[in-house]
Amino acid sequence: MPKKPFVDFREVRSRITMEQVLQHYGVLDTFKRTGTRLSGPCPIHGGNNPSQFRVDTEKNLWNCFSECKHGGNVLDFIEKKEEVSIHDAAIKACEWFNIPLEEVKSNGNSAPETGEHAAPAPAAKPKPAAAPVSKPEDNAPNPPLKFKLEKLDRSHPYFAERGISQETVIDFGLGYFTGDKGLMVGYVVIPVHNIKGEVVAYAGRWPGEPPEGKPKYKLPTGFRKGQEVFNLDRAIKEMTERPLVIVEGFFDAIKLHQLGYRNVVALMGSTMTAAQEELIRRNTNANSHVVVMFDEDEAGKAGRDDIATRLSKFCFVKVHVFDKPDMQPEHLSIEEVQDLIGGAS
Ligand SMILES: [Zn+2]
Repeated sequence: MPKKPFVDFREVRSRITMEQVLQHYGVLDTFKRTGTRLSGPCPIHGGNNPSQFRVDTEKNLWNCFSECKHGGNVLDFIEKKEEVSIHDAAIKACEWFNIPLEEVKSNGNSAPETGEHAAPAPAAKPKPAAAPVSKPEDNAPNPPLKFKLEKLDRSHPYFAERGISQETVIDFGLGYFTGDKGLMVGYVVIPVHNIKGEVVAYAGRWPGEPPEGKPKYKLPTGFRKGQEVFNLDRAIKEMTERPLVIVEGFFDAIKLHQLGYRNVVALMGSTMTAAQEELIRRNTNANSHVVVMFDEDEAGKAGRDDIATRLSKFCFVKVHVFDKPDMQPEHLSIEEVQDLIGGAS
């Protein structure tokens, strides 16, 4: 007698990551990365507290410390989010990530995990073997954009509120997008250039506190920010003996630049990818000095030591520690910048 097909949940789980699932829902960009941890608003109950939902990318587990008070693995996440059975969650995952059902069928002989071995799969049509699932660490370069965003309001009050001068707005190509179509509607856009100076993406920042359901920062789907170091194309042209300052955010870099410290780049997060490390390595030498100046918060503190260790293999690295908790480079005054790094070398 032929055995009934079972979906091997463990096998399905081993083939997908929480990052892919968050990407599938279009919410990965609302998460902050700290080492192997992602934290952000809970996509299941739809909260907006940025630390209520955590993902361990190594163990591939998640937890909502707020309303859901629940956690689990990738399939548990889809189960909750879609409000379906764990079995249907597995089937959905296979469809979304092009996993042929044939490959994850189990005849029940392999050791089942308690309570997890599924009921027979319904007659879902297996998809033909498809292109391999793209991994979050996909390291293909970002292609230069073939369009330029028009309809940018350079004098939106958000810039003045954030202490950004008109000159800086123009210098960085910033602007509030006034168009009525596309991803950036309602956002202030920040062009991101590759090392050759070509625009590879527009990042969006909601001007002020975003309403429910709108992320503070937005990046276009498919853009691999880990392949770029913000402002590196310009920082390397600064003929200066002063150290290269590495910050986390766009606005930290923009502000330091405005205060006259132009040898500054941003990692667009509190961790450094291998590609970013390589970009910095190729544009420094054994005599180069680098200052890692991250936000004086949990994420910044967690990220900076790892980065310093890695960079110190090929240049001189100093980690800047602020004496005020939660201090960010963006909030330094011109005098403080000069004291800290301006006259340092
Ligand atoms: Zn939740």
